[in-house]
Amino acid sequence: RAKGDGRGVARLFEREMDARMQERRRLEIDLRAALENGDIEVSYQPIVDIESNKVRCFEALARWHHAERGQIPPDVFIPLAEEIGLIDKIGAHVLSRACTDAATWPETIRVAVNLSPAQFATEALVDDVEETLIRTGLTPDRLELEITETALLNQTDTTLTILARLRHFGVRIAMDDFGTGYSSLAYLRKFPFDKIKIDRSFISELEGNDESQAIVRAIIGLGSSLGIATTAEGVETSDQLAKLRAEGCQEVQGWLFSKAVPANQITLLLKAIEHWRDTAA
Ligand code: C2E
Ligand code: MG
Ligand code: MG
Ligand code: MG
Repeated sequence: RAKGDGRGVARLFEREMDARMQERRRLEIDLRAALENGDIEVSYQPIVDIESNKVRCFEALARWHHAERGQIPPDVFIPLAEEIGLIDKIGAHVLSRACTDAATWPETIRVAVNLSPAQFATEALVDDVEETLIRTGLTPDRLELEITETALLNQTDTTLTILARLRHFGVRIAMDDFGTGYSSLAYLRKFPFDKIKIDRSFISELEGNDESQAIVRAIIGLGSSLGIATTAEGVETSDQLAKLRAEGCQEVQGWLFSKAVPANQITLLLKAIEHWRDTAA
């Protein structure tokens, strides 16, 4: 009996695995098709100067609207793209869209593009960035590339060469999700970042969690000692905003200001934020 039960469980497990593999296969095929058909779109979330409330930057965030399943979050399809070797193409697509769109914005506003660790495998990334900037006419100092510490964990030598070349070209480099990895501090010493983005998990605990508040204060202090600007991610409440202002954080990003919007809504969004700034002041 016990033996029979075991086999039953094994078979159930196998069927479950098969179903998952099939599901993944299907998503994989759909993702390739989506990229071909131009269904991978880019939305933009404003990053605001905490003192002037002026929009300094928009972060480009990839969006995939699946015909049957609706919106599929980048936390799902970006890792999938990495696994199936599609991330270079998606990355190039997002970069191209972002630079093309940003070239139409006021010159004081930059665009931030996320890079996956896998994009640092070869120096081809540098050529792609340079080619895209030249083709779109966006000046290099208006492009910010966001990388997480995972990108720095592996191919350290190539990665550092790539970063140095990009920075030499005039592109700005930001460390994303700061504080979530194991050795964020070590990397600050290895490479001169232009910006630190404090991970949302610390911001969401700013109210009522003394430890998070101490960590946020320390990160901002660290940034200011090193001459690196800090941006807080995931600001949702005016209380969080007030605390960040008191701590001397320079830039804020979050739903308090706006979620990511499609490119064609940017002009309207900029007007709305301007209006809000004028009435608040
Ligand atoms: P990220 O780069 O840290 O982007 C910030 C994420 O936080 C975005 O999620 C954004 O929508 C979300 N967010 C912003 N403000 C708030 C807030 O106030 N509250 C909450 N709860 N969330 C907020 P999203 O768009 O789902 O992207 C998730 C992650 O997927 C990104 O994290 C980034 O790591 C990755 N990603 C997105 N687009 C791309 C891309 O084009 N290339 C690569 N390599 N990764 C991308
Ligand atoms: Mg980011
Ligand atoms: Mg982040
Ligand atoms: Mg993230």
